[in-house]
Amino acid sequence: MYDILIIGAGVTGCAVARQLCHYQGKFAVLEAAEDVADGASKANSGIVHAGFDAKPGTKKAYYNVKGAKMYAKLAKDMNVPYDPIGALVIGFTDEDRETIQKLYDQGQKNGVEQLRILGREEILQMEPNTNPDVTCALYAPTSAVVSPYEMTLALSYHAADNGVEFIFDAPVSAMRKDGGNGWVVTTPKGEFSARAVINCAGIGAAALHNMISDQPVRLIPRRGEYYLLDHTVKYPFSRTMFQVPSKMGKGVLISPTAHGNALLGPSAEDIDDGFDTATTRQGLDFVLDKCRLTWPKVNIRPVITTFSGVRAHPDTDDFIIGPVSGAAEGAFEAIGIESPGLSAAPAVGEELGDMAAHYLKLPDARMVKPAVPLLKLFSAMSEEERAEACRANPDYGRIVCRCEVVTEAEIRDAIRRPVGARSIDGVKRRTRAGMGRCQGGFCSPRVMEILCEERGVSPLEITKSGGESRLLVGTLNDIAKEARGHA
Ligand SMILES: Cc1cc2nc3c(=O)[nH]c(=O)nc-3n(C[C@H](O)[C@H](O)[C@H](O)COP(=O)(O)OP(=O)(O)OC[C@H]3O[C@@H](n4cnc5c(N)ncnc54)[C@H](O)[C@@H]3O)c2cc1C
Repeated sequence: MYDILIIGAGVTGCAVARQLCHYQGKFAVLEAAEDVADGASKANSGIVHAGFDAKPGTKKAYYNVKGAKMYAKLAKDMNVPYDPIGALVIGFTDEDRETIQKLYDQGQKNGVEQLRILGREEILQMEPNTNPDVTCALYAPTSAVVSPYEMTLALSYHAADNGVEFIFDAPVSAMRKDGGNGWVVTTPKGEFSARAVINCAGIGAAALHNMISDQPVRLIPRRGEYYLLDHTVKYPFSRTMFQVPSKMGKGVLISPTAHGNALLGPSAEDIDDGFDTATTRQGLDFVLDKCRLTWPKVNIRPVITTFSGVRAHPDTDDFIIGPVSGAAEGAFEAIGIESPGLSAAPAVGEELGDMAAHYLKLPDARMVKPAVPLLKLFSAMSEEERAEACRANPDYGRIVCRCEVVTEAEIRDAIRRPVGARSIDGVKRRTRAGMGRCQGGFCSPRVMEILCEERGVSPLEITKSGGESRLLVGTLNDIAKEARGHA
């Protein structure tokens, strides 16, 4: 019997798990996928929003502003890539000017510091590559970029180092109250019991809520598509460049990722299947057209990949955070965590974790192990640091991913550590092997070999990202035998 089960290992679930380390108890995270950060937390714009977008008085506004203020320290403690570069929301028309004034007023009410409205000259001075037709902008110096999946990983590592279990490939298919005692949840790995549950299942959260509550909620899957450019292309601005938001989202942006690639997107399209992360001609064309308005010289020849993420848009338009309404006691949730959910996660994790722990009257932990910072990437080391790393561990001397300069030592560490990588994408998110120009064309076979050596499994068992995404279908002998059988 667990004290608390968290469902979903995105940035929200992992932030809650980390907060629970401050209490004595038995905790686990049940995740449908084979790794953390497999949902919206791996495919978003990576912006720590300043907090002017959300309507004053909403949970979105409250958690965004609180979470954003926690980011700089959190990222520093965990060595997660984070850069407080600031953002501009640019406008061209009178209507845009009104929207920008509204965003400024909202920001003031939400407690966002240092906001300013700029005129054309100042914008072009600050960002000379902006379309000269720009007329006004909102400047938010407290906006930042962060690596969303590395933040999620770091939170999970800290939780695991303090005893939280992570159980993967465990989609929760049913939940029920267990007499007066707590909750039972069903997964393909068996049933798990806990005195309390916390539903952080992203786009899957409404289905779980509706199993146990007589007050149903509805989430609308809203897909956003992106272009990612090679980081050999110099990012043409100094800040994140937004256009004014629409009813569907925060507006198309051009931003550097925390690792320096230019990111263009997202589109916003309501879809039926919340797990459909395809990209489409229509979505990408929309992004490109919009980006041309901000950056007339935009060129997508150096694109290295396109991808999409799905927002869990609640029909109430606000986060739903707290005890599950209309359900028996001991069930908590964070639902409808669309943007600014990444920005809000540290605050949501802290408050929701405390709420569940206080409900169970869990005693404070006797000791919380501090976060072990993420390893410094070999590519970010100085020559002296590289030489020292190679002396200490010769595996640093073997480059596996040439595009991103990732070494064998980093890949082995990413697999060996608690909540380690089990797939090609797991290695990619932890080390950047495969994130470069060739998108894993050269390094994937070697990454696969290392995964086999470290995990003691056959190459046939290695997947791209869990489930049926196996890369090899059989040995040549097997295939030849099968062909002979058919002949
Ligand atoms: C296109 C786009 C752009 C965005 N840009 C930003 C931004 O710039 N800044 C910002 O602050 N926010 C942004 N967001 C929002 C942010 O990405 C999300 O709010 C955040 O990642 C949500 O995290 P989560 O942990 O709640 O959900 P997720 O990351 O989706 O995690 C939920 C997890 O639950 C698992 N799960 C689902 N069902 C079950 C089940 N039945 N059993 C077990 N596990 C289950 C899933 O596999 C998944 O791993 C953006 C989102 C999108 C889609």
